[in-house]
Amino acid sequence: MRTDIAEPVRLKDYRVPDYLIDKVDLDVKLHPSATRVLARLTIRPNPQGRSDAALILDGDGLSLKKIALDGQLLDLQKPEAWKGFVTPDQFTLHAPPRYPFVLEIETEIDATANTRLMGLYRSGSVYCTQCEAEGFRRITYFLDRPDVLSIYTVRLEAELSEAPLLLSNGNRITGGPIEGTPRHFAVWHDPYPKPSYLFALVGGDLGSIFDEFTTRSGRKVALGIHVEHGKETAAAYAMDALKRAMAWDENIYGREYDLDVFNIVAVSDFNMGAMENKGLNIFNDKYVLASPATATDMDYANIEAVIAHEYFHNWTGNRITCRDWFQLCLKEGLTVFRDHAFSADMRSAPVRRIADVRTLRAQQFTEDAGPLAHNVRPDTYYEINNFYTATIYEKGAEIIRMLKVLIGDDAFRKGMDLYFDRCDGTAATIEDFIACFAETSKRDLTEFSRWYHQSGTPLVEAAGRYDEAAKTFTLDFTQSCKPTPGQDQKEPFVIPVALGLVIPGQGDIALRTDGHDGASAAEIARGVIELSAARRRIAFRDVPSRPVPSLLRGFSAPVRLTYPASETDLITLISHDSDGFNRWQAAQTYATRLLLRSVDRIRAGDPPHADKDFSGALAVVLEESTDPAFNAQVMTLPSEADIAREIGEDVDPDAINLARDALREAIGQDLKDLLRAAYDRLADTGPYSPDAAAAGRRALRNAALDLFAAGDRIEGARIAMRQLETAATMTDAIAALAVLAHIPGDARETALDAFYHAHEGEPLVIDKWFALQASIAEAGTLDRVKNLMKHKAFSFSNPNRMRALVGCFATLNQTQFNAGDGSGYDFIANIVLELDAKNPQVAARLLSAFKSWRSLEANRRILAERALRRVAGAASLSPDVKDIAERSLA
Ligand SMILES: [Zn+2]
Repeated sequence: MRTDIAEPVRLKDYRVPDYLIDKVDLDVKLHPSATRVLARLTIRPNPQGRSDAALILDGDGLSLKKIALDGQLLDLQKPEAWKGFVTPDQFTLHAPPRYPFVLEIETEIDATANTRLMGLYRSGSVYCTQCEAEGFRRITYFLDRPDVLSIYTVRLEAELSEAPLLLSNGNRITGGPIEGTPRHFAVWHDPYPKPSYLFALVGGDLGSIFDEFTTRSGRKVALGIHVEHGKETAAAYAMDALKRAMAWDENIYGREYDLDVFNIVAVSDFNMGAMENKGLNIFNDKYVLASPATATDMDYANIEAVIAHEYFHNWTGNRITCRDWFQLCLKEGLTVFRDHAFSADMRSAPVRRIADVRTLRAQQFTEDAGPLAHNVRPDTYYEINNFYTATIYEKGAEIIRMLKVLIGDDAFRKGMDLYFDRCDGTAATIEDFIACFAETSKRDLTEFSRWYHQSGTPLVEAAGRYDEAAKTFTLDFTQSCKPTPGQDQKEPFVIPVALGLVIPGQGDIALRTDGHDGASAAEIARGVIELSAARRRIAFRDVPSRPVPSLLRGFSAPVRLTYPASETDLITLISHDSDGFNRWQAAQTYATRLLLRSVDRIRAGDPPHADKDFSGALAVVLEESTDPAFNAQVMTLPSEADIAREIGEDVDPDAINLARDALREAIGQDLKDLLRAAYDRLADTGPYSPDAAAAGRRALRNAALDLFAAGDRIEGARIAMRQLETAATMTDAIAALAVLAHIPGDARETALDAFYHAHEGEPLVIDKWFALQASIAEAGTLDRVKNLMKHKAFSFSNPNRMRALVGCFATLNQTQFNAGDGSGYDFIANIVLELDAKNPQVAARLLSAFKSWRSLEANRRILAERALRRVAGAASLSPDVKDIAERSLA
């Protein structure tokens, strides 16, 4: 394990590598506890580097067996003889040759003992690797940085019975049995230069499904997905999604796949979602395996999105990689943007947009509002593993989405083409990327680029004034952004505000402006106003009567926007806005307003606020038949975390929970008959299909059940129990169980028990069972979670189990994680400390659940801080956990 890093890594200290590694030849002899890796590195001085620099290779806990320079074995006992030194974490050669030379390094790895799941490890009996960000240095000494690109040839060897399947990056060149031994081998060659973080190997006994994709230029690509034996049929949807993603990238971006084979391997022990290693993607099995009986509609949608995301990296990430880890958003933001667009094309676009914005607000806005806020392109980091964040991914994607809105589809596509042409085969920066769009749009994007350098969520406050006599409508915008860690002052952001003016009963009117308060012709043509200063006023003319402005349509920028709309205005938007996203947003805004009023009343000792008009607006939506998936989104209230973020300070999670429950109960009672009718009307009739339309009907039906049960617990529980017993899909089963789980009593325990026994053999389903119980907003939940940790299906070392039970408790259970006695904080702090010794990356992520602690009411704030200080002060912390603890407290 690495020792603590005292100094941060800084973007401004970037220097080109002093040495380059052109070729990497690996010979890997797999063994459960003693895998031998012989790395043959062809190295040369970088003409752009310093001529007197030492060669310093990164290592991380390596066990070195031997090392040779140009065939000469180096005596490890006499480092003075070869002028250098070696530790498990570094190999240094003070005066390496000034011409190309070969370094041969032999290391030994205990893959079975690798609980960090970085480098070479075993998931069950399968050998696999994870090298992003800095895992390759746990396999051999290397210039483990993304701007060192090498051609890899990998020979793998293993017992045939233990690992009949041997995979690595690129194309398979040769392989076969090794005569006279029980072992066999395979050689893989990747013709595309790549950084070490994209290296991968897999060895194991897996079941496979195969297919083929013909690229638009007629090349045949062999596709393989490899999963646990017996799960092959559950990989069919992932294969289908892969082929659709390959076709989409050709159609939308003109990008073809470039190798003869593309393999995906699903493993059950994985720190992240999936990894885009060149030609050999390794996946958390959660994002590969799906059958109607084990996966919900949301699981299907996630599989489609993650398969596409990793595939799209082949161009945005692999062919063009990042110069350094500060540029992580270059590959992640762009690829998330691409997978969002793919999902929108495959499914209902407004529904996808709503789902993406929900995620953005829940994760990124929360991050931006707390001590862990950071730039989309950070300036410094202590531990890069902690920067795989919603800010890099989700806000990084939003910046590209804004760029497309601002410069238009045509200049955007040309800019992407230019980027692919100019940067292919290189390790690029954000500046390289943005320069392409500045060129194709002939626009100065310097101010726009502030989105990469300034953290925090901008607040846009809008106000409108209608002049009856002049028939004009004037909109005033101001923007501001609160200080974030290290940034007290902010420059204005360039914010595209897509908008329309809605006349009640008539819908949108054509936008017309003129004079010095006007908008440009380009702005009017796109329906997008650009805010680039602290204030802007725009006057619209020929407005026949007082309009309701529909602002930030499609969520055109990742900002908080306020407008003093009346409740009648909001109802107008819910019913008549031509923009689906803003219809949903108006309902959310209305609900949030009611909830905030109720929270104040509850904290003052009064009963919650009641409002029949909101139920009336929902009733209209519920009756519409155009897009059930959309209606389901409208029927879903803001989450407790959404409300907490809206309140911002002195947050009382119990009051929020009570307010939200009261509103759900009121809606359930007001719309009792309509909800029941919708539930009956939307029942599945035909055979199962995971498509968006069928999924949308199930989503609305289950949203109706959820609200119905909130209004009538007894009848709701009865319907839910019947649904659970007869459910043909996991979507319906888990929705029913969720309703039952939140109603205390024997029925709940019986249902949970029955569900467990019905799905005992399916770990991914048992994760849902763990997650549901962890999210119950009741005082007994912490004890339940502690007991479940002793359950035979729980595993401390499996990240999926940890996230399902402990992670869901910390992130989804607002009242119990934030329990007034501090027990939730203490519990999570203890788990983090225990887990840190085994898997620092997952431990650090769990600790980031404290990211909103400063916004809590005083008592909880004190208790949360105490728990954080205990973690920060613990002995022998990993750099990962230390970094999160210290930044959270800073
Ligand atoms: Zn990615």
